[in-house]
Amino acid sequence: MLGWLFRSAKCHICGQKAVEPRNYFSNDGKPVKVCFKCVDYAERRALRKR
Ligand SMILES: [Zn+2]
Repeated sequence: MLGWLFRSAKCHICGQKAVEPRNYFSNDGKPVKVCFKCVDYAERRALRKR
């Protein structure tokens, strides 16, 4: 039932299912996914690309 949660990445910014996710590191150094809608926001938050 929760399988889709693990198969589909969740966006670190908006918390929705990430469409075309990009890989970033969060400010605390964890690898996170950011959906294409939130890439601008992630850049402004100075998340690092990986
Ligand atoms: Zn997002």
